[in-house]
Amino acid sequence: MLNTLRSTCCIVGGGPAGIMLGYLLARKGVEVTVLEKHKDFFRDFRGDTVHPSTLEVMYELGILEDFLRVPHQELHQLVGTVGGFTFKAVDLRHVPMHCKFVALMPQWDFLNFLSEKAKGYPNFALRLEHEVTGLIQSDSRISGVIANTPGGPIEVQADLIVGCDGRNSIVRRAAELPVLEFGVPIDVLWFRIGRSGDDPEQLFGNINYGSVLVLINRGDYFQSGLIIRKGSFEDIKREGLEAFRRNVVRIAPYLASRVHELQDWNQIKLLTVRLNRLRRWYVSGLLCIGDAAHAMSPAGGVGINLAIQDAVATANVLSGALRERRVTESLLARLQCRREFPTRVTQAMQANAHKALEALFRNPGPVKAPWQLKVAVKIPGISHVLARAVGVGVRPEHIAGARRSRAYRNDRMAKFAIALGVAGGFLSVLVMRRKPAS
Ligand SMILES: Cc1cc2nc3c(=O)[nH]c(=O)nc-3n(C[C@H](O)[C@H](O)[C@H](O)COP(=O)(O)OP(=O)(O)OC[C@H]3O[C@@H](n4cnc5c(N)ncnc54)[C@H](O)[C@@H]3O)c2cc1C
Repeated sequence: MLNTLRSTCCIVGGGPAGIMLGYLLARKGVEVTVLEKHKDFFRDFRGDTVHPSTLEVMYELGILEDFLRVPHQELHQLVGTVGGFTFKAVDLRHVPMHCKFVALMPQWDFLNFLSEKAKGYPNFALRLEHEVTGLIQSDSRISGVIANTPGGPIEVQADLIVGCDGRNSIVRRAAELPVLEFGVPIDVLWFRIGRSGDDPEQLFGNINYGSVLVLINRGDYFQSGLIIRKGSFEDIKREGLEAFRRNVVRIAPYLASRVHELQDWNQIKLLTVRLNRLRRWYVSGLLCIGDAAHAMSPAGGVGINLAIQDAVATANVLSGALRERRVTESLLARLQCRREFPTRVTQAMQANAHKALEALFRNPGPVKAPWQLKVAVKIPGISHVLARAVGVGVRPEHIAGARRSRAYRNDRMAKFAIALGVAGGFLSVLVMRRKPAS
């Protein structure tokens, strides 16, 4: 007989989706337990970007000021370089959100911050070193999970299990939820490299010699990601570290004085990229959100943001029903319906970005920026539009009942005025066409 815990909602996985959902449900008076398999949040290269729409959620929760006191860098623009041609790809200074930047913060700081806020509610429990290994089914619904803990296996019974356990989700596998898998032609090698005062400030993507080198300014170092052809890491290793360093310098020559910092393959972490989504995100008693419902590629760095938006929508739709202990399948279906659209659109954009990268791999020589790119970047407002796609995303979620920021309200009014203008224009054309000839 296993030890048994009870909670109204049991969240599996303490990543961005799980911790945010735990906090939001606790805040709404739901008894919630988060099970996380690791003993802390300290893991490197997990994606450290906190986008304007996530910052907006924190503004609406009234915790933004505290959050911005945690050390971070602010990224206002993303600049790209294609074969020596440098252009501003994304300008976040105009997004209709309270914060007009991406905050770069180690993910463990972000998760520690949110979980500390959640712990302020007595109905929130975070249980570290609790690794879920299976689901419990009673009658025709999922009613709990089994978890390995330092004290031995336990059972956690709950009205609702939420799988937030990432792209290798055990929850979705155990529930046999069907997955739609999309082929991905890339993997990413992450490493750190020192930054000097003369380096470009807000440089992001460097494209040349059949590779993309992403450099994220983290103060005294660059968080660097080299995008490689899927499955080619073993070949790269065989060619040796010297060849790898040469390749980095060929793409970003200003790193020549620091590339020797890479002395061992252990400093270079392979992150296998996957892109997929569940056809069905729920069964009776169980729901999946975040990467567990839709594994995101790093393209655009929007995965954390999407996971947070899922958590906000889940809390908005389910907190009342959880409190009253009447979560139905139709509510879970409503949630999938709400969040599947932004997921599909974002994944379609990422798949298109992958196609462009695939084409790039075919030319290992020096790249010349195509004329189409040079024309496109001159289109007025293009970097603002891209900033919306990256920083705000499709269908941003808001905390139910919270006061919206002034930037957001102004944007809504501007959109309303434009819609009214367009509708008025159409109406007047119609009226003029119907006027009988005198
Ligand atoms: C190479 C790469 C780089 C990326 N870079 C970025 C980026 O810069 N910005 C960005 O926004 N997105 C990035 N992403 C995507 C981003 O990492 C994910 O979309 C995001 O982390 C999803 O959050 P999540 O909470 O759903 O899942 P995760 O962050 O994966 O969290 C899942 C949590 O569940 C825990 N867990 C797993 N199994 C169990 C279990 N059985 N029991 C208990 N706990 C368990 C894990 O330990 C983990 O803490 C990147 C992805 C890749 C592959």
